Amino acid sequence: MSSSLPSSFEDFLEHNLTNIDASNPTIPDSCYICHEELDATHQASQITGIPDCSHIFGRDCLVTWVSSNNANRNSCPMCRTTLYVQPLSRQDEVNRLDAALDTMPARWNTLEGRTPQQLHDAQRQGEEILQQHQEEFMQSTEEVLRMSEEVLRDIGELRRRLEGVTGRQVDERPQPHLQNDGEPE
Ligand SMILES: [Zn+2]
Ligand SMILES: [Zn+2]
Repeated sequence: MSSSLPSSFEDFLEHNLTNIDASNPTIPDSCYICHEELDATHQASQITGIPDCSHIFGRDCLVTWVSSNNANRNSCPMCRTTLYVQPLSRQDEVNRLDAALDTMPARWNTLEGRTPQQLHDAQRQGEEILQQHQEEFMQSTEEVLRMSEEVLRDIGELRRRLEGVTGRQVDERPQPHLQNDGEPE
C-alpha cells in the first residue's frame, strides 16, 4: 500500500493538481479556502493521485497554501491528508548546527592549561553559536532543543572551569570586550 507521496510542493503541484472545467457538476459552489465562487476567474483544481484525498479548491488558493510557511502546509486544508513530503530544509539546519557545535571550543578536549581569557572567549563563542542558531530557527524542534541543551551544558562546564581558575563567580552573560575588564593573569 506504499504509494509514495510527492517529494516537495513543486512535485505536488506538477503531478497532483488537476484543473477542472467550470461546467463540471462535481465542482463545489465556492472555494473552501477563500469562499469565492469557483469559475473562470478562480480556476477549480482537484487533488489527484493522493491516497484518501480528492478535494477541490481554487488553484491559486491551494498553490498559496502548499507553498506557504504554515506548519501544516503539506496537508489538505479540508481533510488534513498529507499531500507531499516536507522538504529537508529544517534537517539541513540541524546538520549545520551540529557542524557549528563541532567548532565550539568547549568541545576541544584540551581545555586544561588555558588562560581565563581563553576560557572566557570559548564561553562567549559557544553562547554566540547558540544564539545565532536559535535566531535562525523560526520554530524550535525537539532536535534543536536537545542540541541547545548540549551547548548549554558545554557552556556550564566552561563556566565551572572559569570559576575554578579565577576563584570568583562568572557573569551569567559575559559582556562584549571582556579583554578590557582586567582579568587576573
Ligand atoms: Zn480560493
Ligand atoms: Zn482533502
